[in-house]
Amino acid sequence: MTKAIYPTEKFSAIQTPFYYYDLDVLRATVDEINLHASKTNFHVHYAMKANVNPSVLEVIKNAGLGADCVSGGEVEAAINAGISPSKVVFAGVGKADWEINLGLDNDIFCFNAESIPELEVINELAAAKGKIANVALRINPNVSANTHHYITTGLNENKFGINLSELDQVTDLFPTLANVKLIGIHFHIGSQITDMTSFQGLCVKVNEIQEHFSTRGIELQHVNVGGGLGINYEHPNHFPIPDFASYFKIFRDHLILQPHQTLHFELGRAVVAQCGSLISKVLYIKHGTSKKFAILDAGFTDLIRPALYQAYHRIENLNSELKMEAYDVVGPICESSDTFAKDYSMNETKRGDLIAIRSAGAYGEIMASQYNLRKLPKAYTSDQLK
Ligand SMILES: *Cc1c(COP(=O)(O)O)cnc(C)c1O
Repeated sequence: MTKAIYPTEKFSAIQTPFYYYDLDVLRATVDEINLHASKTNFHVHYAMKANVNPSVLEVIKNAGLGADCVSGGEVEAAINAGISPSKVVFAGVGKADWEINLGLDNDIFCFNAESIPELEVINELAAAKGKIANVALRINPNVSANTHHYITTGLNENKFGINLSELDQVTDLFPTLANVKLIGIHFHIGSQITDMTSFQGLCVKVNEIQEHFSTRGIELQHVNVGGGLGINYEHPNHFPIPDFASYFKIFRDHLILQPHQTLHFELGRAVVAQCGSLISKVLYIKHGTSKKFAILDAGFTDLIRPALYQAYHRIENLNSELKMEAYDVVGPICESSDTFAKDYSMNETKRGDLIAIRSAGAYGEIMASQYNLRKLPKAYTSDQLK
């Protein structure tokens, strides 16, 4: 399989480990999103929690995407990056009062409310400011996302959203809340979803739920189907851009919208995952009794996905064209879970070789920690290293 092209010469002058963002890949990705979403006036809000690197946000803002935030910090970061508050949606099961107030002060587009007590607090805080908060109800559609159980969010036993059985109770509550305006419904069923039938299942449920509101004479202006579109971690070189055409087509074909309704999406991983790599250096090759370990200077403090979700990332040796050999690729941290891959086939590797851990643009840099008092990884872009 072909290797991606990296400015390896330039890399050798930079302290590893670091993140490298190929902004040409990112620009091609957002162009593709805009191409397919604009056909039907779909609105895409980028899920900030995937990556808030300033250069990455700049490309996303310039492409005109909105922001999906799950904390006050993200609302601030989106607005500071120049994304208009009128394109900011704010979700999260546990919004603190200061976070709700921040959203109110900035007149954000919409709060995605996840429970009855939260609706009551938004109402109270909005009243104190003499404002009316736009809210969408996050409804738990009980659709399985067929993905890792840590990243499925749409089933009844999840902590997220309002269950279908509570819908009547919530609908009845709205007329008593003078300072919130119900503008829509919101869903998010999970992440790294590659089985498109999950999204089709979501459409069927959304259509049913829309009936619930229309039979009660409640008009909703917006439907937000969240994010979750997966990417190809096995073959980032062959599939650098997710299949947005098919993804949007599912909703175009299966979701019934009323003429005045707009459809919103919250894509995170699909936007930024493939543009990022974690670049690391091999510190040692250690021979065990039956295996070889490639010990990197990057660990789960830099990229936690393999340790947290047993996630697969493609790993490439950027300096070797030698024959393929099997390695356990591990980090330096004092935990056995600090392993990027086991029995992984790589070109024969020696101390000092540069390693690229691919598809690390989403939930990579943003989840870095300083455990073991390690330094946070820095980040560089293709534009900087041209
Ligand atoms: C995490 C999250 C997203 C983005 O998920 P991806 O799988 O990265 O697309 C969208 N909406 C909500 C509410 C989220 O929590």
